[in-house]
Amino acid sequence: MVRGGQINRPCGLPYRRYVRGARYGVGMATTETPLAKVRRARRISRALHRAYPDAKAELNFDNPYQMVVATILSAQCTDRRVNTVTPALFQRFPGPEDLDNASVEEVEEYIRSTGFYHNKARNLVSLGHELVARFDGAVPDTMADLVSLPGVGRKTANTVLGNAFGKPGITVDTHMGRLMRRFGLTDAKDPKKVEQDVAQLIEKKRWTPFSHEVIIHGRRVCHSRKAACGACFLAKDCRGFGVWGPTNPDEAEKLVKGPERDRILDLALGGH
Ligand code: SF4
Repeated sequence: MVRGGQINRPCGLPYRRYVRGARYGVGMATTETPLAKVRRARRISRALHRAYPDAKAELNFDNPYQMVVATILSAQCTDRRVNTVTPALFQRFPGPEDLDNASVEEVEEYIRSTGFYHNKARNLVSLGHELVARFDGAVPDTMADLVSLPGVGRKTANTVLGNAFGKPGITVDTHMGRLMRRFGLTDAKDPKKVEQDVAQLIEKKRWTPFSHEVIIHGRRVCHSRKAACGACFLAKDCRGFGVWGPTNPDEAEKLVKGPERDRILDLALGGH
């Protein structure tokens, strides 16, 4: 689009301001009011929900105990890999008491393929001890109690709160942090600060599904190395458009992955 002899980006900002702001993560914030930012964040949130209406945790679990164990195992490991080891693990150690009585070496044998298995096995046995000793063998449902457990940080705690207890939680993993910065909704690197910034912008009831949808978008479209900007339905609201990947639709289309590919491309066509 050419206005007054200047090329404008999808977000409506002149090209020079657009690129400078997006590349350095500054500039945009100074030209956007807090209300405009909330509105933009919620447009992004609605678009993500349209694209990924069934987004949910990809880890398999039947109860809070299984959720917390699976989430600990998912550190530096794919959810799919975790799902291959948990059936046998939960059959052998069906509850916190069983982990409490287990040896680290035995747990290691069940989780070896998830990586970092020495640390993870130690954490799981300690988790069993703590749950039995301090919580009567039940997984607590508050952030403060959850982060007091071995191997549980805010990311794991938010995942457990949102998915096992139905309490809204914003999970800031590598995808969430990267996409929030690219969208221009935060410039923070610290996950806790990212979480706080997102909490100011997105309605509380949307925190858990929004987390799943952003993570899927990071896997399908907004890849860390080369994002599919030219085939992205968030282009007009994203400050990173054209900075993190090709804007040429033919080139970008090839970068879109996953079973939702056709819907993603349809939405991108409608969104431009
Ligand atoms: S693919 Fe490009 S336009 Fe889409 S969210 Fe990522 S950086 Fe923004």
